[in-house]
Amino acid sequence: MSHQGADERRLSETLSNIKHKYVVLSGKGGVGKSTVAVNIAVGLTLKGKKTGLLDTDLHGPSVPKMLGLVSFLSSGDETHLEPAILYDGQLKIMSVQFLLQNLHDSVIWRGPLKHAVISQFIGHTMWGELDYLIIDSPPGTGDEPLSVVQTAKPDGAIIVTTPQEVATFDVRKSIDFCNKLELPVIGIIENMSGFICPHCNKETAIFSTGGGKRMAEELGIAFLGAVPIDPQFVSRSDRGNPMVDFTSAGKSMEAIRMIIDKIVL
Ligand code: ADP
Repeated sequence: MSHQGADERRLSETLSNIKHKYVVLSGKGGVGKSTVAVNIAVGLTLKGKKTGLLDTDLHGPSVPKMLGLVSFLSSGDETHLEPAILYDGQLKIMSVQFLLQNLHDSVIWRGPLKHAVISQFIGHTMWGELDYLIIDSPPGTGDEPLSVVQTAKPDGAIIVTTPQEVATFDVRKSIDFCNKLELPVIGIIENMSGFICPHCNKETAIFSTGGGKRMAEELGIAFLGAVPIDPQFVSRSDRGNPMVDFTSAGKSMEAIRMIIDKIVL
């Protein structure tokens, strides 16, 4: 059998052991897409679901840092990539960074090979049986997110936006991208929506908020929730601690928890 045929068979075998696959998309970088993907994956794990988190951002992988896995190297060989494992084996994580360090070669990500690399990266990871695979996509609507969607064939997309992004219509491009690919949109999350003062707990709408909700209503898409700006997201992710902590209170954690309740089947 040709290399390509074997890879495709391997990919469909891998995907057939995963019950639900969701891709997290955003119109542009820096809106909190990876933060949301990590929180959803950890939140599902804490709900007792066998979860995988796949970081496909080839140029700016941030998932390893957010989970304290910057020095993790994937063992195995080209056809059997071992994911990082957290939470007693309930959460498996694979990131491009685990391979880049391994191969000491970023050249392989260039040009037409990118699609093949994304396909191998998804198909050759030893995920085992999973309830959920959360895929952190590269931002935008270009070739890389397209390869991710065509390869992983997710069941749905979660779109992350910010109040500013709603105003620039980037998020509408993401919705259009899903429509063209016949990828159902699970819902929209408005991140960095208002600021909760850590001292007085009062909420300040730095940019106008509520645009994500209005847009979702207009387009007939579910609105999953609004997550405020909360300095804890930055301090926790800089320490490499998973941010969803089900014992901690606060509006941002509450928002994340409600989002996960809406997603879990
Ligand atoms: P993206 O994946 O869209 O590029 P990230 O998830 O890497 O964005 O987030 C960009 C930065 O913003 C990170 O430093 C992250 O900790 C921070 N961040 C994300 N969401 C929030 C939030 N709700 N409140 C405060 N900081 C946030």
